[in-house]
Amino acid sequence: MAKYSIDLQAGKVKEDDVVSTRGETIVGIDLGTTNSLVAHVRDGRAVAVAGPDGKSVLVPSIVHFQADGMTLVGDAAREQLLTAPERTIYSVKRLLGKSYRDLAQVKDRFGYRIIDEDEDRLVKVAVRDAEGKDRYYSPIELSAQILKSLKTRIEAELNSEVSRAVITVPAYFNDAQRQATRDAGKLAGLDVLRIVNEPTASSLAYGIGLTDEDEGRTIAVYDLGGGTFDVSIMRIEQGIFEVLSTNGDTFLGGDDFDQAIVDFWQRKYDLDIQSSAQRGEVRLVAEAAKRALSRQDSYTAEYHGQQLQLTREEAESHWGPLVEKTLQSCALALKDAKLEKEAIDHVIMVGGSTRIPLVKQQVADFFGREVNNSLDPDQVVALGAAIQADVLAGNQKDVLLLDITPLSLGIETVGGLMDPIIPRNSKVPTKVGRKYTTSVDGQVKLKVAVYQGERDMVADNRKLGEFILENIPPMPAGIPQIEIHFYLDADGILRVKATENRSGTEQSVTIKSQYGISEEEMAMMLLDSLKNAEADMSARGLVEAKTEANNVLLSARKFIRQNEDWLSDNQVSEIQSYTDDLAKAVDGDDKDEINRRMESLNDFTAPLAHEALDRNVAAAMKGKDV
Ligand code: AMP
Repeated sequence: MAKYSIDLQAGKVKEDDVVSTRGETIVGIDLGTTNSLVAHVRDGRAVAVAGPDGKSVLVPSIVHFQADGMTLVGDAAREQLLTAPERTIYSVKRLLGKSYRDLAQVKDRFGYRIIDEDEDRLVKVAVRDAEGKDRYYSPIELSAQILKSLKTRIEAELNSEVSRAVITVPAYFNDAQRQATRDAGKLAGLDVLRIVNEPTASSLAYGIGLTDEDEGRTIAVYDLGGGTFDVSIMRIEQGIFEVLSTNGDTFLGGDDFDQAIVDFWQRKYDLDIQSSAQRGEVRLVAEAAKRALSRQDSYTAEYHGQQLQLTREEAESHWGPLVEKTLQSCALALKDAKLEKEAIDHVIMVGGSTRIPLVKQQVADFFGREVNNSLDPDQVVALGAAIQADVLAGNQKDVLLLDITPLSLGIETVGGLMDPIIPRNSKVPTKVGRKYTTSVDGQVKLKVAVYQGERDMVADNRKLGEFILENIPPMPAGIPQIEIHFYLDADGILRVKATENRSGTEQSVTIKSQYGISEEEMAMMLLDSLKNAEADMSARGLVEAKTEANNVLLSARKFIRQNEDWLSDNQVSEIQSYTDDLAKAVDGDDKDEINRRMESLNDFTAPLAHEALDRNVAAAMKGKDV
């Protein structure tokens, strides 16, 4: 029996949960931009599952809405791509977790309508129904359709219900995109036990990271699909996978290789390509030529009775620049990971386009080593997801994938500012401590209010709880040493402990950080923080200026009290006039004005402070025998 326990919130299952699956298979899903697949481990081997016709394991990631409102997914939907493009949604993955603003630059590339009711909200796709009314679908709902179809496929294969899955996402997916993927799973009736990075899954598919290796391994995963390219550099150490860097091009893939052939033929044969249907048709012919050239040296295609010839050499001369672009990304990824090519132990090839001999050879030349391409490049990710699922089901040895916390955790400091103690994307479990002190003389209590979120003001974040540290011995402001520790465990449970070091007084609270918050809300909180980043920064600046100004005011008043015996009436009234001006500025909202007034007060009082110091020293000397 497995001894491990892996986080549920971000994918951890306890051994008890494993037993409670009643032998139910946990499946692995590659939710791709072009194609999606479902896989499971059967008799100790990961296999991708074909449809009832037994033909292909690939399900085109396409959803078509029929006039009657019914949906088609996969091959049946793809058939509608040319005839009803406005009701046939492809590349949904590009929309997941994105706002209209994110997509403004690329929205015209889609054959369907993307809705912009509010620039910063997550996008929706509009599809007109039989009555001419628009219906709106979120990318989460659309992805859920694809996931449902995969669920049906695997249930038919296994002849039993499947309700738990591991789904892969690109390493560069942000929290919003990961949460959206999770939500899509939920909507499809799948409990998503874990979201796994695609390059991690690819490594697992090749068995890398599954065995106890004393020394670590550094891996490059080169993934060239139909429409996207990405490369990830990963470090695997004792079962822990860490993405060191990623690079790529979200609009570079097999489609561009097809287009290069179309362009070549067009020049050579002066092809007549006018309508978008013709364009679609000739591209399919070009794709067939491309695939054939992965196996043979030359190919003759036919397009409307015309013979179109192409040799591998010709094709390669036009593909060269495309491959070169991917290698530049590889170089950048290495640079970001601060590694030389020689540091890479394995190069894993993923995505259908890595079948192209030129790609294989150039990548091998670039890294100066043989590439791993023995598995079907279309299936690698799904197979790895299935292995990860099998690990979670308790069928394999412990493979611990690092988890991260999705939102920052912190406390409220003076002026209602958020002080993040565990920043988002920190690996968990984790423990962080920070020192604080009091802001008022004789302060005997300190309220510790714990918040979650990315905004600068706690009022905009989510309050998780609070407690009061009492019995701080009365001391001047700034003297007590209060240490606050955050302990976040792998299940998202946060324990906050405050200790006053001089007296040893201590207080703590335990909070479930993810409790009662939906993934959608988390995604919204993150989006909010991005949207308000600039406003937040100036709000923080203002609060900080006010806090500092209040301290300066307190010191100035204290200074007058302590030195009234020698300060002239004129000097006192001058200081008072400067402090009045500063106090007025503090009541306002102009940070620069506050800083200016603070400076004027300081300029005036600095020489007086010097004098006070001299007088104090002189007084001290007087009382002493020299
Ligand atoms: P993916 O997004 O990983 O499913 O990759 C699909 C891409 O791989 C498409 O652009 C296909 O044209 C391409 N592809 C599939 N098989 C081959 C092949 N034998 N040779 C070249 N490209 C291929």
